[in-house]
Amino acid sequence: MNISGRMTKTHPLRTLREPAELVAERLAPAEALPALERVAARYAVAVTPALLDLIDRADPDDPIARQFIPSAAELASQPGENADPIGDHPHSPVPGIVHRYPDRVLFKLVHVCAVYCRFCFRREMVGPGKDNALSDAAYRAAIDYIRSHGEIWEVILTGGDPLMLAPRRMREIMADLAAIDHVKVIRLHTRLPVADPARISDEMVAALKVDGATTWVALHANHARELTGPARQACARLVDAGIPMVSQSVLLRGVNDNFAALSDLMRAFVECRIKPYYLHHGDLAPGTAHLRTTLAEGQDLMRQLRGRVSGLCQPDYVIDIPGGAGKSPVGPNYVSESRDIAADAGDAELKTRYRIVDYCGDVHLYPPET
Ligand code: SF4
Repeated sequence: MNISGRMTKTHPLRTLREPAELVAERLAPAEALPALERVAARYAVAVTPALLDLIDRADPDDPIARQFIPSAAELASQPGENADPIGDHPHSPVPGIVHRYPDRVLFKLVHVCAVYCRFCFRREMVGPGKDNALSDAAYRAAIDYIRSHGEIWEVILTGGDPLMLAPRRMREIMADLAAIDHVKVIRLHTRLPVADPARISDEMVAALKVDGATTWVALHANHARELTGPARQACARLVDAGIPMVSQSVLLRGVNDNFAALSDLMRAFVECRIKPYYLHHGDLAPGTAHLRTTLAEGQDLMRQLRGRVSGLCQPDYVIDIPGGAGKSPVGPNYVSESRDIAADAGDAELKTRYRIVDYCGDVHLYPPET
């Protein structure tokens, strides 16, 4: 039964990977099969039982289905879309490492995931049949790169989904990283607590705790319904073990691009002791235009969140600048400068004042700086 208690379990107890299976399960119309076969030939498909259980087959606009069930719209690429939309490759000094910012690196351990998101910014790089894992030699070279760059304070394990690895392998990797003196923080980005909560086993949680570095886990989820009872328990196992969690979400048309869905999602994170961290504007990945919003829509939603929902529930709305220049916050601006005669300026000289907008949209003048 899903979190709302509206549906009974009808899904098979296995991950669905083929368009024909999706049609047989009434998750896609039969007439769409030829197009979906073409989509699946290019971009990986996988929907786990945990997420299948959440899909309301009677709702043609179901926000869970929209994230994971392929669509013929993915066959149409738009101008500006790019196989490497956030520019990983130009910043990859050795295989598996992306060194974009001074004090941190991405370490891409695997190129497989439990589920394949239809909006994924690495959709050209993840999935079975892609370059699936680092060889031992490439892994060693990546560790050597991190060891030889003393400025690297944080290592972000990503992929693919790093928690697809077995706990025993995860423990070895965590130990290798924690043994490097200057690596103080190891952050893992994962969808597994919602996609396959049972994989966050006690053994996996223990593998993530390591002497010599602090572990953080960033959970990727985009709709409050993903935070089912089992998903919440999986997150609790991490947090109870002393592993702090943050969230990352993507703003997606038809999934969370309205105030109710977005505020429910952010509140669900906080209820799970997960601090909302990033709300990503949709990246320019090929065939994802139907899932992207405009920046103006995103800013308007952030304005609504700021005014009506607890400060704990506020993520940073960010965009990854195409080409690899990194993330920039793109939320609404609440401050502007105004050079005019301040009423309290005794000598009537021009002074800079700030115009600050409050959560209701009213403008207030902040006094000139002395
Ligand atoms: S889990 Fe992450 S890497 Fe995997 S398909 Fe989804 S967005 Fe892409």
